[in-house]
Amino acid sequence: MKRNIKEEIVEIGKRLYNAKLNGGYGGNFSVRDEDFIYITPSGLPKDKLDYTDIVVIDFKGNLVEGQGKPSSEILFHILIYKKREDVNAIIHAHPAFATGFSIAQTPIEDGIHEESCIVLGKVPVIPYEVTSSKELAEKVSDVITNHDAALLANHGAIAVGEDLERAFRKIEELELLCKMITVATIMGGVKKISEEKLALLRETMIKRAKRNDKA
Ligand SMILES: [Zn+2]
Repeated sequence: MKRNIKEEIVEIGKRLYNAKLNGGYGGNFSVRDEDFIYITPSGLPKDKLDYTDIVVIDFKGNLVEGQGKPSSEILFHILIYKKREDVNAIIHAHPAFATGFSIAQTPIEDGIHEESCIVLGKVPVIPYEVTSSKELAEKVSDVITNHDAALLANHGAIAVGEDLERAFRKIEELELLCKMITVATIMGGVKKISEEKLALLRETMIKRAKRNDKA
């Protein structure tokens, strides 16, 4: 199995912890590489992992390599990879503001902040199910079929991407957005970008992406 993938996962654990996007023992993150899933082990602090702690499983959940037990949330990682061929990395974490929104069971609408509209779009709340359950795995993977980020009611946040860096940026953006909304709410309430301007923003971003492709 590939040491560089294990090292990337270890690095993301430290970055999440240092950026206050996750507590030591909370969360779990994984990378898909062909027929294997590299995932954090359960019961170890995610800011102090060694690459040898990373567990490798196959799509049936069988342990392929590693001494520890795979994360207890392994089921939703497997289902998401099965449903989203474009996704190769998943981060589930407990950032304080985003988790606060999950406890208030408040989804995030589109059109609140320019950058977030582009990176995240709408962020729904996945109804509460007990951790590690089949029900939770089904609900999470269903929602992630249509979204790159979501809140798990009374639990935390999840983001997916083509790689770990992109998934990390979405978790980071989600936490920032939740902080911004909190401040805006204290200051009198969120005022959204109009539908018309939101459409124009998307058009502008698509044109810019095409230009960058050609460059
Ligand atoms: Zn969790």
